[in-house]
Amino acid sequence: MADYDYDVLVIGAGPGGYVAAIRAAQLGLRTACAESRETLGGTCLNVGCIPSKAMLHASEYFDAAANGTMAKMGIKVTPELDLDTMHGQRRDAVKQLTGGIEFLFKKNKVTWLKGRASFEDAHTVSVGDQKVTAKNIVIATGSSVTPLPGVEIDQKVVVDSTGALELAKVPEHMVVIGGGVIGLELGSVWRRLGAKVTCVEFLDQILPGFDGEVRKESNKIFKKQGIEFRLSTKVTGVTVDGDKATLTLEPAAGPSTGSGQAATTIEADCVLVSIGRKPNTDSLALDKIGLTPNQRGQIETDHDFRTSVDGIWAIGDVIPGPMLAHKAEDEGIAVAENIAGQHGIVNHDVIPSVVYTWPEIAGVGLTEEAAKERGEVKVGKFPMMANSRAKTNHEPDGFVKIIADAKTDRVLGVWCIASVAGTMIAQAAQAMEFGATSEDIAYTCHAHPTHSEAIKEAAMAVAGKPIHI
Ligand SMILES: Cc1cc2nc3c(=O)[nH]c(=O)nc-3n(C[C@H](O)[C@H](O)[C@H](O)COP(=O)(O)OP(=O)(O)OC[C@H]3O[C@@H](n4cnc5c(N)ncnc54)[C@H](O)[C@@H]3O)c2cc1C
Repeated sequence: MADYDYDVLVIGAGPGGYVAAIRAAQLGLRTACAESRETLGGTCLNVGCIPSKAMLHASEYFDAAANGTMAKMGIKVTPELDLDTMHGQRRDAVKQLTGGIEFLFKKNKVTWLKGRASFEDAHTVSVGDQKVTAKNIVIATGSSVTPLPGVEIDQKVVVDSTGALELAKVPEHMVVIGGGVIGLELGSVWRRLGAKVTCVEFLDQILPGFDGEVRKESNKIFKKQGIEFRLSTKVTGVTVDGDKATLTLEPAAGPSTGSGQAATTIEADCVLVSIGRKPNTDSLALDKIGLTPNQRGQIETDHDFRTSVDGIWAIGDVIPGPMLAHKAEDEGIAVAENIAGQHGIVNHDVIPSVVYTWPEIAGVGLTEEAAKERGEVKVGKFPMMANSRAKTNHEPDGFVKIIADAKTDRVLGVWCIASVAGTMIAQAAQAMEFGATSEDIAYTCHAHPTHSEAIKEAAMAVAGKPIHI
């Protein structure tokens, strides 16, 4: 049998890759992880989940002071923005957490190979100027920003999500291209800090993939907060002159359809391009191992995360499914367990999604629309306005909605708009993982007063018997 340098080599140290490497090492496998960035943690820790949440959290405080929420509670303050310090605490959070992964690699004896990795053959990879061999190789190279054809990202006037985290001053007018999660989160940050924000979305509603009612209600809430929306609109060009950009907008259907609506232009001093992310496979030399990405550029795997090439596995943003850190992490654990001969499984039907705006928006399982396509459903809803804790905290916006199978009562989907929806959705995911009915949730004792009681009430509403509405 060939003697390999490692039992497992993971390419990419994002939440998929670093978790896979740690679990593989925990299972007694000789493990290395190659990463082309200077620091570990991937998109998530360096330029994604963590820095965006640092800015969201800080800007929430600023907004609460500026918009009168604090004054309502008897705290009179006039906030003054110190953007440098705000950025400093963001950088500090990133530094501490990426350093934490370095510590975990040392603790678990995972070798960190610094440099860009590319295949020589199915068991040999070049990393920088060294060649390493491994019995199993896990591709966890993640994703990067999808460019908008004809629009150049200069990270000054026209930025991507990474540039939007680093802005040196609050823009006067920020145009966000794309009404998905990242655009809405980063648009919210700069809106709270004083920018006028316009969001241009190609579809007729924001937040594609979310429950229809949740999409509509979120749109209303963001509008109330001052974000302007141009829905069913496409950006056909962006020209930059000095520190100003001019965007050309057209109806999404296009003028050729005879809609009669001509192109319009808007000006901005900051344009955020956030139209999605694409899998990172270009630099891997996949042709050398006979692996071809699918039409969307993703690497296909089976249920165990095996690719079509023996000994090569793939996880995270680079494979199909939602591009989410917790999905990548769970796949990281599962792939390592499968490599070790165990039974690693990820239930892709129960992956929560969260938008960390104010209020937060979260969901797990099927939307009402998708559930109805599969059969008859019962739906229970409960408004956050009727939840004692949300009301007391001056957080009346939103609702919880539970979709259950009409015959079996099994919960098929849960959707929440609430200040702490991201935290609330965990109990829904766990209940669904255990195959819960709405009755199971309705008869589970929930602590009072908590926002989570709204989930219990929505479950009671499925049977038509909520108490507080
Ligand atoms: C602004 C923003 C906010 C986000 N917020 C959230 C959130 O709140 N919650 C959430 O769940 N998700 C969020 N995401 C998405 C999340 O970051 C990704 O889903 C997650 O990072 C994917 O993990 P991954 O391990 O598959 O890949 P990545 O995190 O992308 O990591 C892949 C790593 O591989 C490295 N790499 C690539 N090619 C090579 C190579 N050839 N050799 C060596 N190394 C290589 C890259 O440098 C990168 O570090 C956000 C993303 C962005 C951009």
